[in-house]
Amino acid sequence: MKEDYYDVLGVSKGASDSEIKKAYRKMALKYHPDKNPDDKEAEEKFKQAAEAYEVLSNPDKKARYDQFGHQAFEGAGGFGGGGMNMDDIFSQFGDIFGGAFGGGGFSGFGGGGRRVVKGSNLRIRVKLSLEEVANGIEKKIKVKRKIQAKGTTYKTCTTCNGSGQVTRITNTILGRMQTASTCQTCGGTGQIIDKKPTNADAQGLITTEETVSVKIPAGVVDGMQLKVTGKGNDAPGNGIAGDLLVVISEEEHPTLKREGDNLHYDMYVSLPDAVLGTSKEIDTVTGKVRIKIEAGVQSGKILRLRGKGIPSINGYGKGDLLVHVNVWTPKTLSKTQKEFFENMREDEHFEPKPESSDKSFFEKVKDMFS
Ligand SMILES: [Zn+2]
Repeated sequence: MKEDYYDVLGVSKGASDSEIKKAYRKMALKYHPDKNPDDKEAEEKFKQAAEAYEVLSNPDKKARYDQFGHQAFEGAGGFGGGGMNMDDIFSQFGDIFGGAFGGGGFSGFGGGGRRVVKGSNLRIRVKLSLEEVANGIEKKIKVKRKIQAKGTTYKTCTTCNGSGQVTRITNTILGRMQTASTCQTCGGTGQIIDKKPTNADAQGLITTEETVSVKIPAGVVDGMQLKVTGKGNDAPGNGIAGDLLVVISEEEHPTLKREGDNLHYDMYVSLPDAVLGTSKEIDTVTGKVRIKIEAGVQSGKILRLRGKGIPSINGYGKGDLLVHVNVWTPKTLSKTQKEFFENMREDEHFEPKPESSDKSFFEKVKDMFS
């Protein structure tokens, strides 16, 4: 059970922006990794506080959290991929600590002007059936990612002496100017490779195939990206791994058509079935369902099966399944069939007499989107 964000920061539900900021500042100072080296519990608290602040400091996210709790951020775009990483947390510090702490007070990763190098992101496309989209699924995905080769050792960069920056002093008309720039030799990490195995690349990385398990929430949409933190390529040295971006690709269903969270199904009914009534089996995303067709059903009628559509990705309930009735008219008839219908042509009972309950096409369309 995940702890309430307000409890994490130790503030009340009605806390103001500045109270939330103040509370987070206090927590971040107390549990900062620099103050608590090798303390896993402190690190966990530090991360929790950062995640809570990330949500409660953003009016949009805060409103969603207040309404739906942690559920609001499950799956896509949330913290479902495994919480915030340290890189995200430190990037948050700019606004919270301002100049006083942003640069000098905290060393972040390993100190000074060193840059944290992040490995590159990987992107992979995952095909999902409509049933998988509707019910959510855990997919095992094979990913080719670069990881740090065992046996790679590092030494302090000789160009920048480990600071990650080179300072240059130039004489200008304004006097002597000192400029600092990222060290080109180590890319700002302060470290360079000392020894590496022969199969490793220039950065000390090797390519491996890994199976990554990705929880895909119900209701995802074609083209949506899910982030799995830290499952991209490793960074060299003490950098952090990139992310794996899972791109959703929805396969077309043979009979069900998706439109937002609603589904459409075209049902064909024979003339005798339309006249006499029947029941028919149709496809749904949770298996086949038998539905009743009333005697005298009109072609174009839409039967709405509530909640048989796709669950909303935001957790706002489910869409409907709309069954469109099409009465099938035979193109050819036997002699006796023809005679029968010729007789019915004279019968006034067969004259169209639409009732107000037989809504016009336009009214139905209006209904469908309401
Ligand atoms: Zn360097």
